[in-house]
Amino acid sequence: MTADGRLRVAVVGSGPAGFYAAGALLASAEPKVEVDMIERLPTPWGLVRLGVAPDHPNIKSVSRAFEKIARQPRFRFLGNVEAGRDLAHADLLRLYDAVVYAVGAQTDRRLGIPGEDLPGSWAATELVAWYNGHPDFQHLAFDLSCERAVVIGNGNVALDVARMLALTEEELRPTDATDASIEAIVSAGIREILVVGRRGPTQAAFTTPELKELADLRDADVVVDPAELELDPASEAALEHDTNARRNLEVLREYAARPPAGKARRIVFRFRRSPVAILGRERVEAIELERNELGADERGRVQAVPTGQREVVPCGIVFRSIGYHGLPIPGAPFDERSGTMPNRGGRVLDEEGDPIPALYCAGWIKRGPTGVIGTNKKDATETVEALLEDARDGRLPKRETSALAVDALLAERGVEVVTYAGWEAIDALERARGEPQGRPRVKLCTWDELLAAARA
Ligand code: NAP
Repeated sequence: MTADGRLRVAVVGSGPAGFYAAGALLASAEPKVEVDMIERLPTPWGLVRLGVAPDHPNIKSVSRAFEKIARQPRFRFLGNVEAGRDLAHADLLRLYDAVVYAVGAQTDRRLGIPGEDLPGSWAATELVAWYNGHPDFQHLAFDLSCERAVVIGNGNVALDVARMLALTEEELRPTDATDASIEAIVSAGIREILVVGRRGPTQAAFTTPELKELADLRDADVVVDPAELELDPASEAALEHDTNARRNLEVLREYAARPPAGKARRIVFRFRRSPVAILGRERVEAIELERNELGADERGRVQAVPTGQREVVPCGIVFRSIGYHGLPIPGAPFDERSGTMPNRGGRVLDEEGDPIPALYCAGWIKRGPTGVIGTNKKDATETVEALLEDARDGRLPKRETSALAVDALLAERGVEVVTYAGWEAIDALERARGEPQGRPRVKLCTWDELLAAARA
């Protein structure tokens, strides 16, 4: 605690979960809380800045709510500070009264099939980070010269990737996608984007508004073979309790009924097929898919069962979009299988299943990579309520904490902290660059540019 009785909490990660946690902490009247938000990048908002598709500015505008939290007097943004490198897990537990990890799920799940590492086989998240201007992904060179791209997975990320690859120059120019990505997409040779789901149309994880939106693409048709939409008895039965699935099916049926308008690009849906190999000598030349049948398991969940029937689909690039996976923080508990920190309601647990004093988690590192941005509000609030309850009941270790001690250690280690004012300078410069072009911003996307802007 500080000399005047405030609790000092480190929130690690500045995405939605981190900001909702910070907001809930700052709203506490007793105890009063000071929040240091620790972020590896010089920029805040996590996937709101670097994950949400650039043609979804309304979703990105949630950052305005986060700005209000960030401007509160007991909040500090410590950007360009990496937990685990600049401040070790043990440092954080020593310097703060409590630590909330809200670091998300920073890598992608793997298919585990031959050819997955061939040039031309990418994680969808790499493309997403690239077109969104993430400074660690700008060196990637996506060869989009082929005629067919294949996207594996049926989540909203798969739809984001398929849609982004199908946008025209007029659709991309007003967005904050990087200029390099706009050039590459506009001049790409891609004519067909094949979206492949291992289960059926009614098990798809994508949500209806995202599916429906494809109908508005200026120069891309959506193609669905009606035979793809025939349902097995298990899927038919499950439909009754699943509104999203019913709505998705309705939209897919509309697509199936609509003759293609002969637009330049096509997004084609293919269901009940699992990738079994990515083929090619030097780089991706094709993907081998195996047909699945669907059937309910003992818990009633509709599962894909391979049939042995295989087909080879020529393609030049593959995006694996089968979900994110969390990464461990050195020294902190981690469950490799789920990619999360073992926890009960946000209290991080030790090997015996007991809460570790002062250690909490929120968001995807707590519950896994599911849900939309708003899901993190309830999730983070639950964590913060547990933390505040522990503080009130005297379960947090008693220690003296201060902002000065943190600053002194970072200075001693030569860390160049980007403060919230630093981020505001980056933000102002990006907006000023975007304004003459009628764009929300033109992002700075190298570490040097970002740090130079923050210094100014
Ligand atoms: P997701 O929603 O979990 O979807 C993952 C997809 O990959 C599922 O269709 C899954 O199929 C499939 N899959 C998993 N393992 C596979 C395998 N071995 N072979 C073939 N397919 C496999 O993940 P996501 O798309 O990465 O999205 C993450 C979260 O962010 C989601 O909650 C999503 O809604 C959210 N998000 C929202 C928006 C938006 O609101 N606009 C945009 C982007 C992301 P099964 O169902 O068969 O496992």
